[in-house]
Amino acid sequence: MKTVTVNIVTPDGPVYDAEVTMVIAKTTSGEIGVLPGHIPMVAPLAIGAVKLKKEGGQTELAAVNGGFIEVRPDKISILAPSAEVAETIDLARAKAALARAEQRLQQKQDNIDFKRAELALQRALNRINVQEGNI
Ligand code: ATP
Repeated sequence: MKTVTVNIVTPDGPVYDAEVTMVIAKTTSGEIGVLPGHIPMVAPLAIGAVKLKKEGGQTELAAVNGGFIEVRPDKISILAPSAEVAETIDLARAKAALARAEQRLQQKQDNIDFKRAELALQRALNRINVQEGNI
């Protein structure tokens, strides 16, 4: 088996569907590289970039914000609360989200939801890095 089908699906619908030779994803316990024919596995994902290596050598990037990866020998499914392929990321929006999250984290008020702001910061940084190919 030389390639495996990869789907990335979010509540807004599918964002990626292609044949790849390797997927590199960031699970909550570290980075994994998955090749075609891999034994079945499910793992929770961190907020991070997913690298999708194509036959021919090029690599596509997606920003995936948590969720799960489900691996089967002939199909890999990534289910995430939100995810975007690099070309669809609005850089200005991600930079604005980053600035908002940073501002919230700097406020010394008790009623700030730090965990939420921290996650928003991670999503924004992930989108910026993926859009800029800075992985
Ligand atoms: P924002 O504060 O800009 O909405 P967020 O991190 O709160 O960012 P999410 O809740 O992760 O956004 O995503 C909501 C929807 O908006 C999803 O469909 C996601 O794909 C999309 N989205 C969020 N940020 C961007 C972006 N910078 N470029 C393209 N789509 C984005």
